[in-house]
Amino acid sequence: MMAMRVLVWLCSALLAAQAAAPQYDIVLHGGRVLDPASGLDAIRNIGITGKKIAALSAEPLRGRIDVDATGLVVAPGFIDLHSHGQTPENYRYKAMDGVTTALELEVGVSPVSDWYKAREGRSLIHFGASAGHIPARMAVMKDTGGLLPRDAAMNRAATADEQTAIEAIVRRDLDEGGLGMGMGITYTPTATPDEILSLFMLAAKFKRPVFVHMRGGNVVASIQEVVTDAAVAGVPLHIVHLNSAATAKTPLALQMLEGARARGLDVTTEAYPYTASMTEIASAAYTGWEQRDAAYFARLLWPATGERLTRESFERYRKQGGFVIQFGNTEEMVRAAIAHPLVMIASDGIIENGKGHPRGAGTFARVLGRYVREQHALGLMDAVRKSSLMPAQRLEPMSPAMRQKGRLSVGADADISVFDPSRVIDTATFENAAQYSEGFRYVLVEGTFVVRDGKLQDGVAPGRAIRAQ
Ligand SMILES: [Zn+2]
Repeated sequence: MMAMRVLVWLCSALLAAQAAAPQYDIVLHGGRVLDPASGLDAIRNIGITGKKIAALSAEPLRGRIDVDATGLVVAPGFIDLHSHGQTPENYRYKAMDGVTTALELEVGVSPVSDWYKAREGRSLIHFGASAGHIPARMAVMKDTGGLLPRDAAMNRAATADEQTAIEAIVRRDLDEGGLGMGMGITYTPTATPDEILSLFMLAAKFKRPVFVHMRGGNVVASIQEVVTDAAVAGVPLHIVHLNSAATAKTPLALQMLEGARARGLDVTTEAYPYTASMTEIASAAYTGWEQRDAAYFARLLWPATGERLTRESFERYRKQGGFVIQFGNTEEMVRAAIAHPLVMIASDGIIENGKGHPRGAGTFARVLGRYVREQHALGLMDAVRKSSLMPAQRLEPMSPAMRQKGRLSVGADADISVFDPSRVIDTATFENAAQYSEGFRYVLVEGTFVVRDGKLQDGVAPGRAIRAQ
């Protein structure tokens, strides 16, 4: 009798212990889960085990770490396709803006393997880069610029031998896992249509997309060049920052891309939510500056000091080099680009020693706060889709790892952004770009908190390399 009673007690104690034991490493309780892949928009609990989402349920879950997400939106971590800032400083601003993957696809890098090696095991968020035509051209032609050409690669055509050498470098960088090919034709205006087409054909051999900042001048002609090259080469095409490329012709540019897609071409695009752009003052973007009037220079802002430029200060800074901000678009055109169903959100951001364009820190919060909550220019699910699923889908044919990102479902990577939809907003300004966005309460990179209770987490490096395979 006594033995029986002990046995019953033991069994019930074991059952109780089992019932109380945490099932998951982390549970996000009661958040509004938005998954653009399945269309799920409902209150759910998410269980995370290791680096993966292990449960997504309306039933209660128990975690070793329990996070109350009541009143918060739980979204897939954002994927920024256009992030020039690839330093620990930049990754901090990205994480506080809900970004779990930041990629340098426009300018790209070279050599690709060295670039990845420098970041592996020490990055707050996931990172990756394309094989860059610009850095390859600068190396071969011995240009003295930094991120962008400022002399040889900008001023003269490449010889046949140089073109062969440039392509050899790009081919090696694609072999090393570059996420497609990055091009900035406006910064290499002396690259002939033949040179550009030949590079598109090279990317096609690898079945990787071309990410392109188009040639300057008439945007219709610029789109015609890259869409034709993509059609001829049979290569996927991604046109970067349509907002600053098209400005007043944004509706026409969008119509051209819709048409290209309707005719079966794999063409995508992106935009950032600001009326000003930023680039290198010594680059080809300012060729012909001598002919500009005073009003033109007054639209330029030097972020290092916050001053507006004059002809005299422009000339001085052009010799010195550095980033300059240019106000050149309207709110109406920015809104049209951000709200259009084809357009992904991407920052084009870079912050250097606390200086830069606010897009480097505020892009994703600004879309959610300003364009979704305040202006109702697009829905919350649309904004989340443009910031997560669409960029993941752009990359996944060449990088299968991306099939596990941009989604909230069982088995997906636990890259998750949790934000307060009533508060999320950018705080970075043109005068002070180095300010964290507000409203992101938790950001997880493969199951590791990089933002917790609204605070950046130090001493963690869960970010890993995203490569083409
Ligand atoms: Zn660009």
